[in-house]
Amino acid sequence: MLAVSPTSHTFPGNTTPTGSSRCLNARTESADAERAARSGRACIQESVRPIIAIIGAGPGGLTAARDPRRHGFPVTIYERDASSAARDQGRTLDMQSNSGQIALAAAGLLDEFFARARPKGQDIRIADRHGTIGFEHRTAPDELGNPEIDRGDLRHLPLASLEPGTIAYGKTRDAARPLGDGRHELTFRDGATATVDLLIGADGARSKVRPLLSPAQPVYSGILLVESRIGDIDTAHPALAALVGNGSFSAYGEGKGLIAQRNARGVVRIYATFAAPHDWAASRGLAPNDPEAFRTTLLALYAGWAPELRALLAACDATFIPRPIFALPVPHTWESRPGVTLLGDAAHLLSPATGQGANSAMRDAAALAAAPDLPAAVARYEALMLPRAAEHAAEAGEALANHADPDGPRGLLAQFAALFG
Ligand SMILES: Cc1cc2nc3c(=O)[nH]c(=O)nc-3n(C[C@H](O)[C@H](O)[C@H](O)COP(=O)(O)OP(=O)(O)OC[C@H]3O[C@@H](n4cnc5c(N)ncnc54)[C@H](O)[C@@H]3O)c2cc1C
Repeated sequence: MLAVSPTSHTFPGNTTPTGSSRCLNARTESADAERAARSGRACIQESVRPIIAIIGAGPGGLTAARDPRRHGFPVTIYERDASSAARDQGRTLDMQSNSGQIALAAAGLLDEFFARARPKGQDIRIADRHGTIGFEHRTAPDELGNPEIDRGDLRHLPLASLEPGTIAYGKTRDAARPLGDGRHELTFRDGATATVDLLIGADGARSKVRPLLSPAQPVYSGILLVESRIGDIDTAHPALAALVGNGSFSAYGEGKGLIAQRNARGVVRIYATFAAPHDWAASRGLAPNDPEAFRTTLLALYAGWAPELRALLAACDATFIPRPIFALPVPHTWESRPGVTLLGDAAHLLSPATGQGANSAMRDAAALAAAPDLPAAVARYEALMLPRAAEHAAEAGEALANHADPDGPRGLLAQFAALFG
């Protein structure tokens, strides 16, 4: 929520009193603008108020857009996907009580979250490569700490609450030109432009907004994750369903990991993790549209593992997607500048090992909301967010090493034993 009050806000470069006019260069952003462009006028008349553009409709961008609308400020999310259903949103996420749930509560979405979440998704089983369970946690009936929710269901929460038209789909932002007064002129791939008072980069790992603030680039961790899934596991593979249980099952050994995570509707996501060059799949000629070649290669890689664990790979009924794990340098920081900021993966891409990414993105969005005027909101938000993000990113980097630990799961078991007593 960007809790900008219509009466108290100020924003950079705008000393014009409310009610006067200025240019809005948004050729395709509104019917008025289109008419203005057709009539040859250079600009249209607009009441002065901050125009907020969010690039990216991930969990962070959607949460950030939820409240400015309610406060009457125009906010538009520009999303490159053609629609909210354009691609499989994948995987399950745990929403943590000290992070993502705070943002959901601030956005008034906590009850809806609990209606869709799976508290039992917090069950954990950790085994070695022989299938011997070394740690098991079963969710207590009153344990609501970090329930799981499918990513698509999570996105639906803020999505369903936004006013129609808040999201401009099929809009890939190509460039942002600082106008020198805190405002930015955005250019989209389809030729549209928009001039905005606050540009929020919520455009994920490969953010195109990030270079306005920082030269940092994501760096490959050396650990590759290959993702696939088993559908309808309870009916099609009851023995594997029992192995996975209600939450997550993971096994480690020989510098590799194999993780099975229950999603909603009988789906289990499978992740194979190991140290490898980032182009491991391509260099072997493995393409996602050839699952059999992928499966054969993975089964060979896990040849020394127990048959019931390899059966998880054998049962995958979807493509295998290689996901090299990249992260931004830690700490990633920048000098605050008026009119532009970052949130979520754009600001602090971290390894998924601690399940913090979406939680942090949404927490960022809530923090950005908590100041009464735009320049102060951005500066205060960054002062709060950057150190917190650095802490989470450092933890996530350390945790990632467990997924390719030659002594696995020894280190992980020790950590869980310490955590759960
Ligand atoms: C395997 C795996 C497991 C994970 N598990 C967890 C977990 O359990 N818990 C957790 O909290 N996190 C988890 N994460 C991390 C989480 O998915 C991300 O951190 C989170 O999605 C980041 O949200 P975001 O809104 O910052 O960016 P994204 O979700 O990446 O959204 C960015 C959006 O911007 C759009 N976009 C990008 N560029 C442009 C452009 N130029 N113009 C217009 N639109 C653009 C994209 O299409 C996308 O919709 C996991 C990640 C992985 C890979």
